[in-house]
Amino acid sequence: MTTERTRVAIVGAGPAGLLLSHLLAQAGIDSIVLDSRSREEIEHTIRAGILEQGTVEILSSTGASDRVLTEGNRHDGIELRFAGAGHRIDFAELVGRGVWLYPQHEVLRDLIAVRLAAGADIRFGVTADRVEDAAGDRPRVVATDAAGEPLEIEAEIVVGADGSRSVVRAAVTGSQTGGYFREYPFAWFGILCEAPPSADELIYSNSPDGFALISQRSATVQRMYFQCDPEVDPESYSEEQLWEELQKRVPGTTLNEGPIFQRDVLRFRSFVAHELRRGRVALVGDAAHTVPPTGAKGMNLAVADVVVLERALRALLLEGDERLLDDYAETALHRIWKAQHFSWWMTSMLHVAPDASDFDRLRQLGELRSVVESEAGRRYLAEAYTGWPLEGLA
Ligand SMILES: Cc1cc2nc3c(=O)[nH]c(=O)nc-3n(C[C@H](O)[C@H](O)[C@H](O)COP(=O)(O)OP(=O)(O)OC[C@H]3O[C@@H](n4cnc5c(N)ncnc54)[C@H](O)[C@@H]3O)c2cc1C
Repeated sequence: MTTERTRVAIVGAGPAGLLLSHLLAQAGIDSIVLDSRSREEIEHTIRAGILEQGTVEILSSTGASDRVLTEGNRHDGIELRFAGAGHRIDFAELVGRGVWLYPQHEVLRDLIAVRLAAGADIRFGVTADRVEDAAGDRPRVVATDAAGEPLEIEAEIVVGADGSRSVVRAAVTGSQTGGYFREYPFAWFGILCEAPPSADELIYSNSPDGFALISQRSATVQRMYFQCDPEVDPESYSEEQLWEELQKRVPGTTLNEGPIFQRDVLRFRSFVAHELRRGRVALVGDAAHTVPPTGAKGMNLAVADVVVLERALRALLLEGDERLLDDYAETALHRIWKAQHFSWWMTSMLHVAPDASDFDRLRQLGELRSVVESEAGRRYLAEAYTGWPLEGLA
């Protein structure tokens, strides 16, 4: 067994792990980042697309990504559509903030390029098996490298940034599933297609046939989702059926159709780990929590956790001050539960539950009207969607 040493061992080269290693490096703190996947796989994973204003500010101000501002598209509002009418939520007017459409894989490409150019130690194809000595001063990640050889990394701090199926979580909570959990009776069927945008801004549509989200990726590619059964086989729909499903859920808009080159089914889960830190091991991002995608919070919440944890690690590793690390879970959980609530609220307000009664359906329309007809309602949605400021966290 080879044992290597570093200051911070980070499991997972997703947005959370890579951004943390970038910010730590700027403070002069070395880290090793492990990921079981190859660079190629990581850079081609189609996932999140909406960045909160605070996320964009962190990425651009720290040199993690210049392209987010030059190639990302700022959006100053979204449309809520229900009962045959569209209602714009004007972020700029309501809260003076916006969001950026910039796909997660582009964020990852930028972060990997910046880290490798700075000489970072990122190990692709290395799988963490478990963490040992979490409560001690020198926790260790026990891993297997790409050739199947065992490898151990000893560090002052181990960070689990290893996504929703985190193995590091077991060292923090005592089990891989230790957390508060909710599963939803529906999923999103997501497609990518080659066609120009069907609308200038995102449309969140509540229809009697279920929810649909009309979104974009670029001038030539659209990302769209519709509510489906979680057990559905993505290959069971013909392209014609997919367009039919999408089109009937956005009456009033004619969707631009084009070849569909990717399809996936995304299950809805809400999860928050019972603990975010034990001794010298901490969790960030999807390893600590997952949210249903309706509020576009997942990647943004990962970035917010990293901002809080990086500040705590700087205080600990540069000044020997452990107080911020002691506060890490409480500080991060404040935002995590607000984001959980917002994601749950958007989901329950916009989707049709399989067992919904006429009462449920009419009450839901009343809820949507309460939001769009009240400035306070629209402002809450705008504030949460564009992201609560990160200033207090940094
Ligand atoms: C289809 C889809 C759409 C989404 N849309 C949005 C959206 O619009 N807005 C939004 O904000 N969020 C969205 N999300 C959520 C967002 O993608 C996640 O919240 C985000 O990726 C979390 O980042 P992370 O770094 O915590 O975890 P991840 O991105 O999951 O990264 C974890 C990394 O750890 C690695 N890893 C896992 N286990 C091990 C191990 N044992 N050893 C070594 N490496 C390991 C994985 O290979 C992975 O690279 C979406 C997610 C999906 C699936």
